[in-house]
Amino acid sequence: MSNQQNNQDAQLYRIRHSLAHVMAQAVLELYPEAKLGIGPPIDTGFYYDFDLGPDEDGKPRSFVPEDLEQIEKRMRRIIAGKHSFTYKEVSADEARQIFKDQSYKLELIDGLAQGSLDEYGNEIETKPVISTYTQDSFEDLCRGPHIEATHQIPADGFKLTSVAGAYWRGDENNAMLQRIYGTAWPNKKELNQYLQILEEAKKRDHRKLGKELELFIFDEDVGPGLPLWLPNGGVIIDELEKLAKEQETKHGYDRVRTPHLTKEDLFLRSGHLPYYAESMYPPMEMEGVRYYIKPMNCPFHHKIFASKPHSYRDLPVRLAEYGTCYRYEKSGELFGLMRVRSMQMNDAHIYCSEDDFEQEFMDVIQMYREYFEIFGIEKYVMRFSTHHKNGLGKKYIDNERLWRKTEEMVRRAMTNGDVPFVEVPDEAAFYGPKIDVQIWSAIGREFTLATNQVDFAVPERFNLTFINSEGQEETPLCIHRAPLSTHERMMGFLIEHYAGKFPVWLSPEQARVIPITAAHNEYAVHLQQRLTDAGIRAKADLGAERMNAKIRQAQLMQVPYMLVVGDQEVQNGTVSLRRRNNTRQNNLTVASFITTVQNRVTTRSGEL
Ligand SMILES: [Zn+2]
Ligand SMILES: [Zn+2]
Repeated sequence: MSNQQNNQDAQLYRIRHSLAHVMAQAVLELYPEAKLGIGPPIDTGFYYDFDLGPDEDGKPRSFVPEDLEQIEKRMRRIIAGKHSFTYKEVSADEARQIFKDQSYKLELIDGLAQGSLDEYGNEIETKPVISTYTQDSFEDLCRGPHIEATHQIPADGFKLTSVAGAYWRGDENNAMLQRIYGTAWPNKKELNQYLQILEEAKKRDHRKLGKELELFIFDEDVGPGLPLWLPNGGVIIDELEKLAKEQETKHGYDRVRTPHLTKEDLFLRSGHLPYYAESMYPPMEMEGVRYYIKPMNCPFHHKIFASKPHSYRDLPVRLAEYGTCYRYEKSGELFGLMRVRSMQMNDAHIYCSEDDFEQEFMDVIQMYREYFEIFGIEKYVMRFSTHHKNGLGKKYIDNERLWRKTEEMVRRAMTNGDVPFVEVPDEAAFYGPKIDVQIWSAIGREFTLATNQVDFAVPERFNLTFINSEGQEETPLCIHRAPLSTHERMMGFLIEHYAGKFPVWLSPEQARVIPITAAHNEYAVHLQQRLTDAGIRAKADLGAERMNAKIRQAQLMQVPYMLVVGDQEVQNGTVSLRRRNNTRQNNLTVASFITTVQNRVTTRSGEL
């Protein structure tokens, strides 16, 4: 990324942050009794949380769209006032005096004063300076950064977009606040572009389409964040797994299977306990031993690697599994399929020597690209997080030689492979450099797909070894990778990417036979059987509705092929093909239709 780009981004970040403050001022002017939560900038804009107190029914009072219009109007007036943002450092007592009517801010000030929390309530290590920023009549607890004055905000580059309930500090036991989201861009054109994507994304919302296309549901009796895959969703998942198995076989992986449950000891050894305990479900006791449900598959694969001795000749060992994991996410943070509590992960662990590492890493990247090609993902970036030498022995495992060597190899592999990547210093995991893969859907929305990680700590914890070419014991490196992410996240992405119009190979129902009248039912059933025998997912619609209603029904379900059969087709043993995109082909022999479909499926083509 160029410096100029960085500066523009930094300025946009300040504008978004400043707009959060301006919005809070506008809300306070319109609702003087409002209590303020937090208001940070985010990727596309900003938000601020407000508590308006209870409504007549005792429920948290919310904002309606007309309120947002009023607030936006008021914000424009404040912006036009050309107020400067001024910074001030204060003592904890002074801060308590300034925010004496703001209960949530007082809670944050306590956190700051104790030195454990920042002004957003995030845990921090060093005791912070308490500071405020003031513009016009409004003062907020804040460490900045901000723009100099409100006139630097492009007044036609922002818009308040939505309101959503949000628990104070994301905890469902706390009060429900009202979060107003706004979006902000350098100019009107970019704002409109973004709003258009948002509009299109709404139509493609995976929660909406998931219901309409009968892909998955959530059931209250099962629990939040625990999706149930319906038969249509099940077909897509099977196809994704089939793809993964084919690719992984081609790339030399072995498949394993591991239990969902394991003794506490395993997670103590892996280091998940106690550090990761917050994201795990509480333990259960059986025969006096504590068991946990797994949040990750890694330790099981390590045990499989360790189950027999290895020589350098057996390496790399690549163990793959679609493993189901369970992670605790706060109820307030669950979101459709994108943030869930149970997930099936396209997981694998590669154990290799330092000499093999670069080649193995390239091969993983190659696999990502093969997938991107299949799914028509044209824009992607790998975010490469590296260590910083000041953190060695604290934030990062103390092995500078390995850090430098693996990072250099990753860098070289990505540069030689022409992979678009950005390097982010000082954001690696404790045990090695990592690569987050960001992809863009067909409508230009960004998703973080998967993480690809190098690990040089855990193999040692598990005493994983191999005998090298000098006859000596050596610890292998481990690569964690999950290019197809989890079924849940991938499905959420694919639904939006295809707008529910899945390519033929992924379509739950590939063809629907539609008889013109009941007289053609027999032929329709015969045809459906012939397609099924040829491996095509087909149904015959023998319902009482008229043909046109049946076609509409099939189109709503995004069935790629409709085969209309009447007298002529029965007589000639043919079909009239009508595709999802409304193109048609009459008098097609059944055999040629079957060949076309099989061809689309085996090549995983995106064509109809
Ligand atoms: Zn602020
Ligand atoms: Zn892993």
